[in-house]
Amino acid sequence: MTQPVTSTQIQLVSRPEGWPTAENFRTVTVELPDLAAGEVRIENEFMSVDPYMRGRMNDVKSYTPPFALGETMTGGAVGRVVASTSDDVPVGSVVVHQLGWRDVAQGPAAGVRVVPEVDGIPSSAYLSVLGMTALTAYVGLLEIAHLREGDTVFVSGAAGAVGSMVGQIARLKGAARVVGSAGSAEKVALLTERYGFDAAFNYKDGDVAGELAAAAPDGIDVYFDNVGGEHLEAALGAFKDGGRAALCGAISQYNTTGEATGPRNMANIVTRGLMLQGFTVGNYTQHFPAFMADMTAWVTAGDVVFDETVVEGLDHAVDAFLGMMRGENVGKMVVKTAR
Ligand code: NDP
Repeated sequence: MTQPVTSTQIQLVSRPEGWPTAENFRTVTVELPDLAAGEVRIENEFMSVDPYMRGRMNDVKSYTPPFALGETMTGGAVGRVVASTSDDVPVGSVVVHQLGWRDVAQGPAAGVRVVPEVDGIPSSAYLSVLGMTALTAYVGLLEIAHLREGDTVFVSGAAGAVGSMVGQIARLKGAARVVGSAGSAEKVALLTERYGFDAAFNYKDGDVAGELAAAAPDGIDVYFDNVGGEHLEAALGAFKDGGRAALCGAISQYNTTGEATGPRNMANIVTRGLMLQGFTVGNYTQHFPAFMADMTAWVTAGDVVFDETVVEGLDHAVDAFLGMMRGENVGKMVVKTAR
């Protein structure tokens, strides 16, 4: 008799108030059924932990539905197909899919995307530099903020998965000056020394508006907002006339329980003729082919560098998620789930 195939999975069991804790989650091991027609079984190699998952832990309607209590969470993952009843996705394929938070995933082949194996590029890259977070940077900068040659660009959360890509893409697409903020001196050094930012500051030193004014004395044309709150207020104060902002995220607000802080200088939008536009990357997947062509060329040529913070083991996935929310990552935070 063959051994049953099992999958270890992480579920949300209660909704966090403020910062999540280990008690909000549980780990279960389930037996997987035989594959139905047109399905694949995948041994996940890496899973993604992302800020948007915090929103899905609340019972609030958003652009993605809340995680159901007592059910396994989902999210980006990459792994290798170990069993298949689909001619389209043979055993051995490396696939990207949405059945993360588990070591073995199983579902319709139609829900996975086969990706090439490239020498020197780990499969985790499909969750970072060749995946959703870098696409977010590309779309936000080029399609939402309409970056122009000669622009001065400011990006917050600049040492993270999205932010580190924003700075490098801005430079490659002709920005004249690129400024970033991040939460430690080490990250600030990385921005200027590795990612090619012209100036960077540690927002935890205090005065975000003052630091930004010093780093971009002539003002900014583009703001890529990953943080919200005080950072958005500082950007509104630093904009030149006709400035543009891509509102990508507001991570400073995701775990707050009290009143959210917002900019007090919204009138600048009127007087300076600013354009602020929010977006979610899922509505811009038509740009994926152009993004992949550009990014593959940039990475191959060494024009874009990328970092990943890899946490080992599915049993540390919740720690990895919380660590990412606290800023323990450089570049993309991923969890190595391979058994
Ligand atoms: P990151 O890799 O940037 O990780 C999150 C980072 O946020 C941490 O490393 C930390 O860095 C920073 N951070 C945490 N708390 C604060 C705070 N109070 N103030 C300032 N920075 C803080 O994550 P992602 O690159 O995946 O996501 C970045 C942003 O982009 C998020 O807001 C996310 O929601 C958004 N996003 C939006 C998408 C869309 O479609 N609109 C798609 C993907 C992401 P530090 O040490 O610098 O504090």
